[in-house]
Formats: sequence, structure tokens, C-alpha cells
Amino acid sequence: MTINVRGYATHSATSELVPFTFERRDPRPSDVMIDILYCGVCHSDIHSARNEWGWTHYPFVPGHEIVGRVAAIGNGVSKYKVGDLVGVGCLVDSCRHCASCNEGLEQYCDNGFTGTYNDEDKIGGTPHKVTFGGYSDKITVDERFVLRVPDNLAPAAAAPLLCAGITTYSPLRHWKVGPGQKVGIIGLGGLGHMGVKFAHAMGAHVVMITTSPEKGQDAKKLGADEVLLSKDTNAMTAAQNSFDFLLNTIPVGHDVDPYMALLKRDGSMVVVGAVEPLKKVNGLLFIFRRRSMAGSLIGGLPETQEMLDFCSKYNITCDIEMVAMKDVNKAYNRTVKGDVKYRFVIDMASLKS
Ligand code: NAP
Ligand code: ZN
Ligand code: ZN
Repeated sequence: MTINVRGYATHSATSELVPFTFERRDPRPSDVMIDILYCGVCHSDIHSARNEWGWTHYPFVPGHEIVGRVAAIGNGVSKYKVGDLVGVGCLVDSCRHCASCNEGLEQYCDNGFTGTYNDEDKIGGTPHKVTFGGYSDKITVDERFVLRVPDNLAPAAAAPLLCAGITTYSPLRHWKVGPGQKVGIIGLGGLGHMGVKFAHAMGAHVVMITTSPEKGQDAKKLGADEVLLSKDTNAMTAAQNSFDFLLNTIPVGHDVDPYMALLKRDGSMVVVGAVEPLKKVNGLLFIFRRRSMAGSLIGGLPETQEMLDFCSKYNITCDIEMVAMKDVNKAYNRTVKGDVKYRFVIDMASLKS
């Protein structure tokens, strides 16, 4: 048995998203079936829909910032009941026995995690070979990969926490960002606006580093103490050697040297945005002040739940613009232009109308 699902898919790198029906597996004993209420539009959805990373299978159904209500459960499910508000992020499966999985770091699974979209569906149970994402009205997911969304968070504004939220929270925690530190968040988009909110809530002195002067006022409202324009070379020079930590969300390859030079001795810059070659890296900038550059991928299931609970405690959600499913192509074009405050979220009720 399978479940019929309505969604939106793209059929090539150059075509728009269009209505698409497909099948999901009926819940197995450990599965939760979710009626999707909202799904965020991550820049990774756009990179993938347009095959900018070269690994997209078509038809492609994007969406990994999913919030919905449990509609059915398998007979072995213990954590969730019908009606619960839940979330699904970028992962729907992993090997569950390697060192990374055992530490709750499923995103670094040694045997390869299963992404929520565009990945080999190792569980199967449908005619499709790949996973289809959250731009759809239902999804079936093993309960281990389902998150509890705290009731005090507005469901639509919580959806982007499942990727933009955890991708920024995880490195800020791993590199122990906190009071007394000067932290720069580079790029004020979906990830960046959450980076500012989290770094502020963790007690750091936060500097928004942006290419867009007009975003400055917003950055301060989001929690930034200062704004640094990356195109202002004098201001960038004046800020050299002053940052403890930088979170770099720029979505394309770029010259990292001007940013590395901002770090003080022993500072670190973590790249989360450019999932492609970086244009230039000068070793001198690492050697002379013992600086580091690192990367970070989303977060594991335990840390994603910790992030949602942190948001519940500090009343943190995303700043969103709600769109109807039929307007998702326009939302893609606006996101690429940086014209969104600060995350589009698709109202899945619009799929039915
Ligand atoms: P987004 O909403 O489009 O935001 C990116 C921001 O970066 C823009 O708003 C802009 O901010 C800045 N920017 C854009 N182009 C730039 C350029 N050429 N040079 C300098 N700054 C530029 O994207 P997002 O959804 O936050 O995602 C950011 C990147 O992270 C994407 O590549 C996405 O695929 C990736 N990602 C990675 C992970 C992970 O686990 N590592 C998870 C999710 C997403 P300003 O106007 O302020 O300059
Ligand atoms: Zn994402
Ligand atoms: Zn594993």
C-alpha cells in the first residue's frame, strides 16, 4: 500500500516547479505520517532545483524545512501521537550504527545519511528510487528523524528552524560562542538572520557583515550590535584582527581572504554557505595569527531538538514571508536576488485550493 501525495516538482535544471503527484510509503511500525502545514524555501532547494551542484535527479521535489501534524503512526511508534506538532529537517535516515550516528551526529554518518530530497530512498516501499521533499501535502518518516516542535512557537515561523536554524545554531555551539566574544555573521539571508538571533541570545557581541547597506536597520532589530559593510574596504581594514568567530553564509564561492583577515589570533571562520570551490585562500592569513577555517553541515537529531527547545525558551522564530505554492517560482527568483525578509515559507493549504 502507498499514499498518494500532491506536491510540486521541477523536471529539469531550467524548468519551473509545477504540480506533481507521487506516492509515499504507508507507515511501517516505526514510521510517522505527517500532514505538512508549512515548508520553508532554503537556498539549497534552489541550488538543487537548478542543478547548480551537479547531483540533482529529476523529477525533483524540494523542501527540507517541514512543519506539520502527525496524521498516522505505525504500531511501534513511542514518541509521537496523532495530532502532535512535529518537524522534519534535512535528514530522513542514516545507518544508525556508525560512530557518528551513535553520537547523534547523523549528518556526518560514515555510511551516508539519506537526505529528505534528491537522495537514494534506501527504505523503499514506493515505485520511486529517490526521496521527495516537503513541497507536498504529506510525508512518511521514521520517528527517529522526526522532531517535536514546541507548542509556543508559531508553526509557520518555526519551519525554517529545521534547516536555517540548526545550520547556524550547531557551529555557534560547537565553537562555544558566548559572552565576551565578538562574532560576525556574514550574509543576511535565511541562515544569516538566524545566526544573528542565536549569537545574540548566546550573549555574544554580534556584527552583521553584509553586502547590502539597506539591510543594516533590520540587522539591528534582529539582534546585531553593529553592521559592517563588506564592500567598504576602509571599514573592513579597520575591523581586521578583531573577531573571535565568523559564520560565513555566502551561497557561492568567493574570495575568503578579506574575511579571514577580520579574525584575531586563534579566531575561526566557519563556512556553511559555499558548497563549492572557494576562489582563493592565502595561507599567510592562517599562519600569522594561528587562524582556522572550517565547515559545518546542518546538525544531528539530538542537537536539532536542543535548538528547537532553545527557541522555545528564548521565544525565537524566523522572520518569514508566506507564499502560496503556485508562487514558489517567483519566491525562488526573489531569494536569489536577496529580496526576502528573511525566509519564504510555503503555506501548504494553498496546494488544496
Ligand atoms: P539566502 O537566503 O539566499 O542568503 C544568502 C545571503 O548571502 C544573501 O542574502 C546575501 O546577504 C549574501 N550574499 C548572496 N550572494 C553573495 C555574494 N556573491 N557575495 C557576498 N554575499 C552574498 O541563502 P540561505 O538560504 O541563507 O543559504 C545560504 C547558503 O547556505 C546556500 O548556499 C545554501 O545552499 C547553504 N546551506 C548550507 C547548509 C549547511 O548545512 N552547511 C544548510 C543550509 C543551507 P547580504 O545581502 O546581507 O550580503
Ligand atoms: Zn536547507
Ligand atoms: Zn551512520
